[in-house]
Amino acid sequence: MKNLSDIQKRILELKKEKNALILAHYYVPLEVQDVADHVCDSYAMATKAMDATEPTVIICGVRFMGESAKLLAPEKKVLIPAIDAGCPMADMVTVEDVLKLKEEHPNAAVMCYVNSSAAVKAVSDICCTSSSAIRVANSIDNDEIIFVPDIHLAEYVADQVPDKKFILHTGFCPTHHRVTEADIIAAKKAHPEAAVAVHPECRKEVLKHADFVGSTAQIIDFARKSEAPEIIIGTEMEIAARLQREMPEKKVYSVTSAFVCPNMKKVTPEALLNCLENEEFEITLDEAEAAAAREALDRMVKC
Ligand code: SF4
Repeated sequence: MKNLSDIQKRILELKKEKNALILAHYYVPLEVQDVADHVCDSYAMATKAMDATEPTVIICGVRFMGESAKLLAPEKKVLIPAIDAGCPMADMVTVEDVLKLKEEHPNAAVMCYVNSSAAVKAVSDICCTSSSAIRVANSIDNDEIIFVPDIHLAEYVADQVPDKKFILHTGFCPTHHRVTEADIIAAKKAHPEAAVAVHPECRKEVLKHADFVGSTAQIIDFARKSEAPEIIIGTEMEIAARLQREMPEKKVYSVTSAFVCPNMKKVTPEALLNCLENEEFEITLDEAEAAAAREALDRMVKC
C-alpha cells in the first residue's frame, strides 16, 4: 500500500464505517484514485454502481457520471464530491437541440454520447461511450444517425461506419479540442521513438498522427501492452501520470501540458472527505425523465 496522507486514511475509515463504494474516474487526481475501490472510465463507473452491494456509491468524477450511475442504480444513494464539477461538453447540447434535429431528420435514430445530461439522454434512442460508439452505431437499424454532442467522436465513428449517414452536433470537449496538430507534431518530433495513443474526442487532424485511437481504458491497455519504450498519451494528463508511476521502466509523455480537465481536478481528497462526512452532494433525478434516460442507457448496456 502506498504511503497515505491523514486525509486519505480518514477517507478509508469513513468509507468502511458508512459502507460506501468509491468509484474514481481516470482523470481525477491520483490522490483520489489511490483511495478508490475502482478506477475506471464512465461506462464502467455506471455498471459497477449498478452491480454494487453497498447502499452508497460515491462517483469521483463530473456530474453526468453521477447521473448515469443513479440511472442504472436508482435504489442506491449516489453522491458526487464536487457539486460544481460539470462537463462543458455535456452542457453544449440541450433537449431543444435534439428535438429540432429530430424534426429535421425524422428517419434518424438519436445516438447520444454518455457525456450528456439525463434530460438529453431521455430524448435519445441509445447512448454510447467512446469505447462502444462504433459497436452501438453498427447495431442501429436506421440508415441515418443523429450523434450528439461531440463532433470529433462523431466524425471518428462516421469514418468507421461508412454505410450510415451521420448528422452531427457541434459540441466538443474543450480539454481535447484545445490540442492542435502542431502540438502532436511537436511531441512526436521531441520523442521520435514513442508510440502515440490518442482519444477520439481530439480533432481529426490530431488523430491522423496516432498509432492507436481509443477510449481512456483502451489507451491504458495499449500503453501497458506496447513494446515501445516511450509512449505519448493524447488524453487528459492524469493518464500519463498514472501510467508513468505504474511503468517506471518506460517513458510516458502527455502530448501537451495543457491537457487538463479543470472540472475533474475539483474532485480533491478534501472534497471526497467532505462528501463522506456530510453525505453530500446527492444526485436526484426527475422520475419521468429518468425512466426515459434509463431506457437509452439500458440499450447501450445490452448492445
Ligand atoms: S475531459 Fe472533457 S468530456 Fe471529460 S469531463 Fe472534462 S470537459 Fe467533459
